[in-house]
Amino acid sequence: MTTDSFDVIIVGSGPGGVNSAAPLVDGGKRVLMLDFGNEDRRYAPLIPKESFSTLRRTDPQQHRYLLGDEFEGVPFGHVRVARS
Ligand SMILES: Cc1cc2nc3c(=O)[nH]c(=O)nc-3n(C[C@H](O)[C@H](O)[C@H](O)COP(=O)(O)OP(=O)(O)OC[C@H]3O[C@@H](n4cnc5c(N)ncnc54)[C@H](O)[C@@H]3O)c2cc1C
Repeated sequence: MTTDSFDVIIVGSGPGGVNSAAPLVDGGKRVLMLDFGNEDRRYAPLIPKESFSTLRRTDPQQHRYLLGDEFEGVPFGHVRVARS
């Protein structure tokens, strides 16, 4: 396998990478997605092994891993709405 086998290489499989890849794949492009497999060691161990809907209804600690202990999950600052 060489990079010539792909039209686009996307580094990172977070929401940004996935939302970039999806329309490219839908459009017939050959996409290679690379990720070094970063693990969230701080919050991942806190998430109970339940479905998202169960967690939302029942876990009184859900704010910790949904927002972050220091609210790092909340994008403070300038927010822009794209216009077509
Ligand atoms: C504790 C916490 C809770 C959050 N809760 C929510 C929430 O409830 N709802 C919500 O909408 N948002 C939430 N967020 C925000 C959300 O996680 C981010 O906005 C989103 O993940 C950003 O997406 P991204 O694709 O830009 O980056 P990321 O999701 O960080 O993805 C980047 C990817 O690139 C990979 N990568 C980085 N460098 C390299 C490299 N050199 N080589 C290969 N791969 C690499 C990483 O492994 C990672 O997978 C939360 C954030 C935190 C920290």
